[in-house]
Amino acid sequence: MNASTRLDPEQYLRFQSALDEPAADGALTDRERRVRRATREIVASEIAPKSADLDITHAFPHEGVQALSKAGLGGLLFPVDLGGSGDSNVAYALTVEEVAAGCAATSLVFMTQMHTAYPILLAGSAEQRRRYIPGLLSGDVYGSLAITEPEAGSDVSSLRTLATATPSGWELTGQKTFITTGDRAGVIVCFATIDRSRGRDAVTAFIVEGSWRGVSKGRPFDKMGMHASSTAELFFDRVDVPRENLLGEEGRGWDIVMRAVVKSRISAAAQGVGLARAAYGRALTALRDLYGSRIPDEETFALADLRGRILQGRLLLHAVARQVDDDPNVTPAHIGLMKQQCTDLGFQAAVEAVRILGPHGDLVGLGVERCLRDAKVTQIYDGTNEIQRLLIGRETNRALKELT
Ligand SMILES: Cc1cc2nc3c(=O)[nH]c(=O)nc-3n(C[C@H](O)[C@H](O)[C@H](O)COP(=O)(O)OP(=O)(O)OC[C@H]3O[C@@H](n4cnc5c(N)ncnc54)[C@H](O)[C@@H]3O)c2cc1C
Repeated sequence: MNASTRLDPEQYLRFQSALDEPAADGALTDRERRVRRATREIVASEIAPKSADLDITHAFPHEGVQALSKAGLGGLLFPVDLGGSGDSNVAYALTVEEVAAGCAATSLVFMTQMHTAYPILLAGSAEQRRRYIPGLLSGDVYGSLAITEPEAGSDVSSLRTLATATPSGWELTGQKTFITTGDRAGVIVCFATIDRSRGRDAVTAFIVEGSWRGVSKGRPFDKMGMHASSTAELFFDRVDVPRENLLGEEGRGWDIVMRAVVKSRISAAAQGVGLARAAYGRALTALRDLYGSRIPDEETFALADLRGRILQGRLLLHAVARQVDDDPNVTPAHIGLMKQQCTDLGFQAAVEAVRILGPHGDLVGLGVERCLRDAKVTQIYDGTNEIQRLLIGRETNRALKELT
């Protein structure tokens, strides 16, 4: 067996198309299919071939993100006048799924551009939107969404980063951690508190430029997976934020977070499905190299089980993304179900793909163990899966109360 099973772009496209399931694809529009096809072609030629090397070198996936952005895929959820294409959440989910299936780390940097731009679309003034969104969509500037702090992540209301009013705006002091693309962010959407005693009622969002005086960036952390995406600390030392860079209203940041996570949890769920497909596809490629075109029953049984679970995940992802298209006020529990189930699927599919291959599953060159390392963190970020279960549990109790 080849210790390194890599597919050329033509083979990659054939393998990925063979994994498309009519049961999930039946509900896609022609436009959504075209978006997926365009993404898959870029992934096949520019992203998947580099993913193993990026994992080893930890190099930032600049070329891959640029290729996606220059093809117009960075602005799927944004209006045309801001450089977007006004596409559906389903089209966006398909795109992140495709990129994650080729290189999960590239998908993390790619989706973070959207996560930074989306709060500005939600709450920004016309001037803020015009000034910051087009550059994030085109990939001309990198962005970060800065919420997590050393003492606050799951519990956003205990943020310590403090914004103090000044005659010209605000002065920002504090620290953020685990911030994707933080080391190279030109635009930072930063959540701070204007009064530490008021919890979530004081959470306020600001647009901070990475080059401003008082902003400094830590070195990227060494991580278990997603090596090519950088994750860093950000420090704000008495940063002058002009009044016009307040995002939305004072004390309304919590509301922005809650509305923005609807989109970012679609991203994480799509990564889960993409990683499950990657695990399946890479295991299938390795089995072909081991056995030729006739794989033993034991392995095909395990693959059949996996294929069914991936189809379930895809159906759930697409159904919730469609629900968000129809009604942006989908409940946190519905979003949570999708995020938790799809990211658990990504991790569990990777564990199973490694098992199916026995000792070969442990070989770095096959890329299956990488799926496992990359998938783990999707269960942690964008609200850990325990937090998703908490949200689902709250809704269960509310429903129970109404029943009794
Ligand atoms: C690679 C990577 C990229 C990231 N990118 C970003 C980014 O771009 N921007 C950003 O702001 N953050 C980012 N994060 C941070 C991430 O979103 C948080 O780490 C995550 O939300 C968990 O929050 P926490 O760190 O406060 O963990 P904690 O809340 O301290 O969680 C520790 C453990 O306790 C559990 N737990 C916590 N509260 C409860 C509860 N009430 N009930 C049951 N269990 C609970 C958690 O599920 C977890 O298992 C990133 C993290 C990583 C690893």
